[in-house]
This record gives sequence, C-alpha cells and structure tokens, in this order.
Amino acid sequence: MPKIYTARWVLPIVAAAINDGAIVINDSKIAAVGDRAAILRAFPGALVEDFGNAAILPGLINAHSHLELTVMRGFLEREEHDFFAWLRKLTLARLQMTDEDLFVSAACGAIEAARAGITCLGDSSSFAVQSMRALSEVGLRAIVYQESFGPDPKLADENVDKLREQLDGMQTLQTDLVRAGLSPHAPYTVSARQLEMISRLAVDETIPVMMHAAESAGEKQLMLNGIGPFADGLRARGIDWQAPGTSTVRYLSDHGVLETKPLLAHCINVDEDDLQLIKNHGAGVAHCPKSNAKLGHGRAPFAQFIAHGLNLGLGSDSVASNNTSDILEEARFATLLARASGAGLASDDQPSVNATQALFAATLGGARALGLSDRIGALKEGMQADIAVVSLHSIRQQPIRDPAEALIFSSSGRDVLVTVVRGREVYRNGHMTTTAEDDLKTRLDQIRAKLDGPA
Ligand SMILES: [Zn+2]
Repeated sequence: MPKIYTARWVLPIVAAAINDGAIVINDSKIAAVGDRAAILRAFPGALVEDFGNAAILPGLINAHSHLELTVMRGFLEREEHDFFAWLRKLTLARLQMTDEDLFVSAACGAIEAARAGITCLGDSSSFAVQSMRALSEVGLRAIVYQESFGPDPKLADENVDKLREQLDGMQTLQTDLVRAGLSPHAPYTVSARQLEMISRLAVDETIPVMMHAAESAGEKQLMLNGIGPFADGLRARGIDWQAPGTSTVRYLSDHGVLETKPLLAHCINVDEDDLQLIKNHGAGVAHCPKSNAKLGHGRAPFAQFIAHGLNLGLGSDSVASNNTSDILEEARFATLLARASGAGLASDDQPSVNATQALFAATLGGARALGLSDRIGALKEGMQADIAVVSLHSIRQQPIRDPAEALIFSSSGRDVLVTVVRGREVYRNGHMTTTAEDDLKTRLDQIRAKLDGPA
C-alpha cells in the first residue's frame, strides 16, 4: 500500500518548494509529489503521516567520505599541520585494523550518516569489501571506490592486478544500492602509468572512478616543480619523479583519468583551464570545505564551481579531518566560506552562493557528481524513494520564511527526524531501524584503544 508523508514544506529541488506538500512512496519509488490536499484526494487508501513543521527533501548526498576511518575521529589532531605526517600516521594505524575492525568503523560511519539524513555516499576505501558490507548492513546507498596506491611505475602491473582481484571480490557484493568503483588514490601516491592502466580498466568495464585532486600545496609543488614533501618522499623511496610542470587536473587529463568522467575530491588548486577541462569531460567535483579548512589546505572556489555548472556535490571527507559527517552543516560552512572571501556579493547584489544553490549541491548536485542523478537527488515521480525529513520545529529555527534558508543556515543533521532509502526507513526519531548501534559503538571504542596504544 502506498504511504504518504506530509509536512509544512516539501522541497523537490527540481521545482519550487511546496507549502503544505506531500509525497507518495510506493514500494521503492516516489509515486507522486505535490500539494497536500490534491495528493490526499488522489491516493485515498494510502497510509498518511504528517510531520507538521518539517521539511521533506531528497536524501542528502555525501559525495566524499572514508567511512572506514570513523574510528580515527580526533586521532590526528597533532599531525594536522603536516599533511605528510598526517597521512603517514593514518596509514600506519589503518594497517593495525583487522577486517572486522574496518567493518565496525565503517558501519559506525554509515550510522552517523543515516542519522544526519544522508542516504547516499561516494565512499573511498582501502578495504572496500568491508565498507560495502557495512553500508549494506546499515541500508544506505553508495558507490564504494577501492583505493589503489603505487607511486613506482615499475610496480604498476602488479598493483593493477591486485586491484582487478579486489574488484572481482567487490562485484560479488554489489546490490541495487551499493556499487563498486575504483580510486587511484592521488597523483602523489599513484604513478602515471598506473593511472593510465586504471583508467583503461574503468572505461572498458564502465566502472565509476574517484580521485583526490589538487588538494594540498605539497601536491602543487610536486606537479609544478618536483619539490616539497611529496617529492622528497618519492625520492627517499628511490622513485624518479619528473614533474610534469602542469596543474593536477591537466596531468589527469594527459594520463586518461578524465576519460573516466571521474569524481574529483577537493580541487582547491584549480585555474580557469582546469575548470573547463572538468566541465568538458563531464567529470564531477566533491567539494569538502571543512576538511580543507581543518587541514589548512585552503579554500576551493565553490562559487566558481557553481558558475561553471559543474557536476558538484559536497563531501565530508573522513571524520579524521572534519570531524563530522553532516552534509547540512557542510553546506552551511561551504556557503559562509564562499562569502567570507570578500568577493561575496555579485554585481546584482545577490550573494555569490545562496541557500538554494547550497541545498542543490547537497542533493541533486551530489547525485550528478556520482553519476546517479537518473534515480536520486530530487523528489519526482519515478525517482527512487531516498528521502530525509528534517524538523523545523525548534526555537533555534524560528521564525521561518524560506525553507531552504532555514535548512542551510539554521539547521543541521541533528534535526533529521527520518531517513528513508529506497522506500525503507533506516532511521527514525533517534533510533536506527536496521542495525544494533550500541554494540557497534562499544566495539569502536575498543578498536580506538588498540590504535591509541598504551597510555
Ligand atoms: Zn579523501
């Protein structure tokens, strides 16, 4: 039997907000969206639930996460000033984690996301099979990208063989909700030859790709001049690095990565040519402003991404560098940060980024960046029923004139009432409906104690 949710506001994203709106969920799909009275007349036998002063919107999309690192929230605060040391400590700690540790850590991250109204993630993982298991257990939608490392071109064949094997394992776990992808980790951890081989594999087999790109000053130095901490690190490993003398995005274009229409995380150090390359290839961008700020990497040009019409989503990155996975909060931060540059007002006196644009990036923009906008990101008949219901009831949100502004500027993931994925409620009113949260939390603490080591 169809189910109707009604609320003071329904935000389809592809159409104007509906005051006193309703949405009809039939099995896994959205059957109708519209005015409450009209919907109730059209579906007389349906179950009806009224959320009152709340907003019903498409499930939020976290376009860049590392759920397996959830156990490392607050683990790397002292290393943040030195990205190279930060990455090294993270990598060594991850090696201490068993398969089950990785599963528990990822499951806790997935629960955090579900509680914040996130229904879909672009998750990068060094042990993707465990992240896929965790996401399936919690009931979220995702593309999980298996990371591949290997800066030494002589080992590219071996590394890609290993990736191929990992991909085979992932493909046996694929469901309608959780799909397998590939991630050559970053330009400073993967050789050009390996980038080319992975790109070919992805194009030949139509596998989605994500990659970290143009994130840090060290990466820019490596690309342009072959100097800095990453260059020193490669040399210390006996790897002969020839700086291409180009931007990262141009380098990715030269080595076939853009042919895969990849999702690029960060894109802080990009110029006009880079933005055109991203646009012309139909690649996506995961804008991760809080992680970028916390690590001191700088500020990606959110307003320019929007102005160029890129496939643009928002990402939390890992909670090791954020320290939350909350896309409403990320959208607020992204908007304020874009305005804080001082170039905040466009010539027509409109802010450079407004709440409607930020909400778009948090929903349909993220779906486009992940290549999933044919099924999620908007409330429309025929789309998958991936939905977040956010309370607008609190005194901290009053008075409300515009629901998008209320969501972006005075709400957060903590206001989410219900999270629905493919018609199934995974979270409601403080409780996960799919998984035993308390047990996972206890196990997460135990894993962290192991990583912290003796006091
Ligand atoms: Zn990342």
